[in-house]
Formats: sequence, C-alpha cells, structure tokens
Amino acid sequence: MMGWLNDIMDYVFPRYCVVCGQALSSSENFLCAECLIRLPRTNLHLQKDNDIEKNLWGKMPLERASAYLRYHKKGMVSTLVANLKYKGNARLGVFMGRCMAKDLQGSSFFAGIDFIVPLPLHKSRLKQRGYNQSEQLAQGISLVTNIPMRTDILVRKRNTETQTLKSEVQRWENLQDGFECRSPEELTGKHILLVDDVMTTGATVVACADACNKIPRLRISVLTLSVAADM
Ligand SMILES: [Zn+2]
Repeated sequence: MMGWLNDIMDYVFPRYCVVCGQALSSSENFLCAECLIRLPRTNLHLQKDNDIEKNLWGKMPLERASAYLRYHKKGMVSTLVANLKYKGNARLGVFMGRCMAKDLQGSSFFAGIDFIVPLPLHKSRLKQRGYNQSEQLAQGISLVTNIPMRTDILVRKRNTETQTLKSEVQRWENLQDGFECRSPEELTGKHILLVDDVMTTGATVVACADACNKIPRLRISVLTLSVAADM
C-alpha cells in the first residue's frame, strides 16, 4: 500500500503494540520499534552446549536446541505469548517466527534441517483456539529459511496441554504416548526442527521425540520462541 494510504488507515484504524500498547506507526507491525529492540533475546544459539541442550541431553537424540527469548512472569515475553495463545492473534505468530529466523539465520542453526515440524495441538484444543500457535511460528520460520514446514508428521493423541497444576512427575507421565508419528518411513535419515512457543521442562519436546524413536538415523533439533527464566 502507498505510504499516505497507510497513514490514513492508521489514523482511522489505529493499531497498537501488543507489548506496551502504544499506537504503531505505518512501518511497524505488532510490536513498536522500541519493544522489538528491547525483547530479551537469549542468543543461546551462539552458545555451544547451551542450557536448553543440556536439559535435553540423555532424554532424546538431540542435534541442537535454542530458545529465542527469555520468559519472565509478567514480563514483555509473557504479554507476547498471551497475545499469541489466548487473544486470537495468529498472525503475531508468523511475525515472531520471521523475527527469530532472521536473527538466527546468520548462524549455522538451520544448516542441514530438512523439515520444520510445529508441535501439534490436540484437535479439541485446535478447534477451541482456531489455530496452532506453534504452527504460526513455524510458518514464519519457513518463510524466511525456505525450509518446508510439515504439519502431517506429528499428531497429538491426547489433550495434555493444560497441566499447569500437575507436579513435574505427573506432567512427564501424562505426556507419555501423547504423540504419534505419521509417515515415519519418510523421515529415515532426515533432520527435523521441532518448533514450540514456550520451553519449560522440555517434557513435551521429549514426548515428541519418543514418538519418533523407531525411525532410523532421524536427527532432531529444537527451537522455541521462549524459555522460562528460571530454567
Ligand atoms: Zn511497544
């Protein structure tokens, strides 16, 4: 759209930063320039054997792992994730996927990855939310990296997403056999990137890896939008 038309549109239909609530200029999308700069990036992708990788070692065959932002309760990233998950802001997911892919692209993080696989939602949750936030993130990453996204590989068998009140042991037990791998024969010798919004214990990612454990020479990497600050 032409610049002046954008300016008029912003005047008639003002758009606001999802983090600080300030009106956006015509060149800004979802986040104002200041919030975008201030996002607490972890830069963990630049660290060999980073804490996310260490947390997953021994639990799954892992190539590499990173999380883009640090998640603090009541912080910028929690507002961002709440918008993405609970306020119907699906396009924000694509935007954030693009942001993280652009930031990580300068490193070798995406090298050799064959497919981007978003963590699936259970179909009842998908119906409720209308979209899968991890799929929106994965789509943004795919657009920047040109690595194909596959949503037909992993299926969630049980609705295990709401488990905030459960103890860590219960969470792990609850997630066992929670996922199923479709088209395993296609994945022999491939390298997939699992994408999710928030990393806490890593239990969900490990459950996905478990579902793929019969596939010969499959390599798995993990990228999440955020990681809990106390992890
Ligand atoms: Zn802002």
